[in-house]
Amino acid sequence: MIIQLKEGISEVQKSSLIEEVNQIGYKVTEVKTQLGDYLIGIGKKDFDIRKIGHKEGIKDIHIVSDEYKLVSKKWKAKPTTIDLGDGVYIKDGDMAIIAGPCSIESEEQIRKVIGHLHANGIRMMRGGVFKPRTSPYAFRGMGIDGLKLWYNIAKEAGIKIVTEVMQVSQIDDMYPYTDIYQVGARNTQNFNLLDELGKVDKAVMIKRGISGTIEELLQSAEYVFSGGNEKLILCERGIRTYEKASRNTLDLNAVPILKAKSHLPVIVDPSHGIGIREYVPQMALAGVMAGADGIIYETHEIPEKAYSDGQQTLDFSQSALLADWIRKTFAMRKTFDLL
Ligand code: PEP
Ligand code: MN
Repeated sequence: MIIQLKEGISEVQKSSLIEEVNQIGYKVTEVKTQLGDYLIGIGKKDFDIRKIGHKEGIKDIHIVSDEYKLVSKKWKAKPTTIDLGDGVYIKDGDMAIIAGPCSIESEEQIRKVIGHLHANGIRMMRGGVFKPRTSPYAFRGMGIDGLKLWYNIAKEAGIKIVTEVMQVSQIDDMYPYTDIYQVGARNTQNFNLLDELGKVDKAVMIKRGISGTIEELLQSAEYVFSGGNEKLILCERGIRTYEKASRNTLDLNAVPILKAKSHLPVIVDPSHGIGIREYVPQMALAGVMAGADGIIYETHEIPEKAYSDGQQTLDFSQSALLADWIRKTFAMRKTFDLL
């Protein structure tokens, strides 16, 4: 059960509500986010919400039987909009394009990528400064100094920054320079990190775990929401299966399923999803048709020279073409949606 509390509810009213819910045999957790205060009641008994729905201080009340609750569409039917400021949004009914290198490498590289994004009307740039690498000897990122450098150049160009946070201690350092914290596939179930990102008033994009189910992804999102942060985005980036012909298996089934189960926006990452440069555009467009609210992909001036993930990275002319096709495909999908 979820109870959204009215603004200005008195402590006495709240205590009496909690007591009443406890009496039904439900355990209550209080959740405070940037946008609202909630009581989450967990219990098994069938219960008629009309019994308490009239009580003072209640704005809304619903029974949500899913394991995830606040991120469920059963709680909030209206899709969540992520407003990054300066007219940049990630939202249902729109097509966000996030492009950039796997890793931030140098000032020159940042400037070149930003020039490319600017020329193609792309307002969000991805890039890692803290890189999770399978080998400890691989390039592990420019760190916080790289992020500061990137931020100064991006801000001037009106471009928003999407970058991975790997551990709790990085959250505060990154805060002034980050628009969307990315939780990588290796950290989807790092519950300490998710809890701490719940305390931040900035958007968080959670990637699906390498072997994670759709349900587990939604429960990871629930951690951040119940920690206090409603600004959430889900990302399908491929899962590990028995198939070895591609880096991962991009599970596009997840897109309409996530959209049906949750009010959060869903982004598709075809670069990590298939891991093979020449097939990234097809999978990106398939993601658009599957119902994604945005696409995130890797681009670099000279992919062969990229410090990481060059094999799945588009050069600027491929990226320009793809951005154009993402928009055209999205326009086509919108006519489909009308059917
Ligand atoms: C990335 O976006 O560069 C990345 C490491 O992604 P993932 O966590 O999906 O592997
Ligand atoms: Mn990468």
